[in-house]
Amino acid sequence: MIIDLISDTVTRPTKGMLDAMMNAQVGDDVFKSDPTINLLQKKAAEMFGMEDALFFPSGTMANQTAIKLHTQPGDKLFCDKWAHVYQYEGGGAAFNSGVTCKLIDGDRGMFTAEQLQVAAAGRSDIHVPYSRLVCIENTTNKGGGACWDFEELKKIKKVCVENNLDYHLDGARLFNALVAKNESPAQYGKLFDTISICLSKGLGAPIGSILLGSKEHIEKALRIRKLFGGAMRQAGFLAAAAIYALDHHVDRLAEDHKKAKQIETVLNTLSYVKKVEPVETNIIIFYVRDEMNPDTFISKMSEKNILLTPMGDGKIRIVTHLDFNDDMLEILLRELKLFHF
Ligand SMILES: *Cc1c(COP(=O)(O)O)cnc(C)c1O
Repeated sequence: MIIDLISDTVTRPTKGMLDAMMNAQVGDDVFKSDPTINLLQKKAAEMFGMEDALFFPSGTMANQTAIKLHTQPGDKLFCDKWAHVYQYEGGGAAFNSGVTCKLIDGDRGMFTAEQLQVAAAGRSDIHVPYSRLVCIENTTNKGGGACWDFEELKKIKKVCVENNLDYHLDGARLFNALVAKNESPAQYGKLFDTISICLSKGLGAPIGSILLGSKEHIEKALRIRKLFGGAMRQAGFLAAAAIYALDHHVDRLAEDHKKAKQIETVLNTLSYVKKVEPVETNIIIFYVRDEMNPDTFISKMSEKNILLTPMGDGKIRIVTHLDFNDDMLEILLRELKLFHF
C-alpha cells in the first residue's frame, strides 16, 4: 500500500463519482450545448451569488484567464511573494498577459491592506506601469493551507476600490477555508471581481476548475479560454464529476483537516522536527533539524511507501485528502514516531 501525501490532487474518482460521470448527458460545449457543463456553471454561479461561471481544464488556465481579462500588456498586478500565480504558473502572467508582478512580503502567503496600500502608493507618471489587479490566494498553498482573515480581505477590497484595482481570488482550495472558518461562498462572491476554484484538489474530481465573475467578465473569459486553447467538447463527463464533488465532497473536508491536526500534534512531539507551521486546513508544512537533510528524510519515508514532498528552503509538505484513510493515518503516525536519524 502506497500512502501518497504529496498533494490532494492524487485522489481517484470514487464509485459514486464514476457513476455520475458515466451517466452524464453531454453535448458540444464549444456550441454551449453540453447540458451538464451548463448545469455546473449555473450551479457554481448561484452558489457564489455571482452572475456567471465558466468551466476550465485547470486552475492555472482559470487564473491566467482572469489575469488576462483584468489587464493590458505593460500593466502590473499585486500578489504575495509566495503566490501560485507568480511562483507556479510558469511565468504565465508575463507570457500570456505581459504584466509584471509586484510582490508583497506577506506572512505565510498573506499580506495586509496596509501593505497593499504602501505598495500601491507612489508616482503614477509615464515611467511606472499602470496598477490594475490584486490577486490573493485562499487557502495559501506555499503558506501551508493558511486561511485569510475575512475582515482583512474586506479592508483590501477598500484599498482596491480607492485605487481602481480589480480583485481576483485564487481559490484553488477555497472550500477548505470555507469549511475551516465556517464561511459561505456567497460572502466571497460579494467581495471579489473574479474567483477561481479547483474541483481537482480536495474536492476529488479528476479534472476541472471554475472561474466566476460578472456576465461581462465571463464573456471575455470565454474568448480568452478559446485563445488559450482550452475550449472542450463533450466535457460534461468531467462536469458531472465536478457537480458530484460539490454535492458530496465539501463537508467531508473537515475530516482531512482533523487528520492534519493529528499529524501536527505528533510532529510537534518528535525530537528530529525543528518546527511545524500552524495547521489550519489540510496542509502540513514542517522543518527537520538542521543536521538532517530534508531530502534524506523524504527518501527514507518513501522506502516505507509514504510519499511526501519537499517545498524548498528545508520545508517538507504533507497534504491530507479523500484517499487518505484512518488506517493510513495510523501507519503514518507510527512511522513518524519510529523514525530516527
Ligand atoms: C493547484 C493550484 C492552482 C491550479 O493548479 P492546476 O494544477 O493548474 O489546476 C492554482 N492555485 C493554487 C493556490 C493551487 O494550489
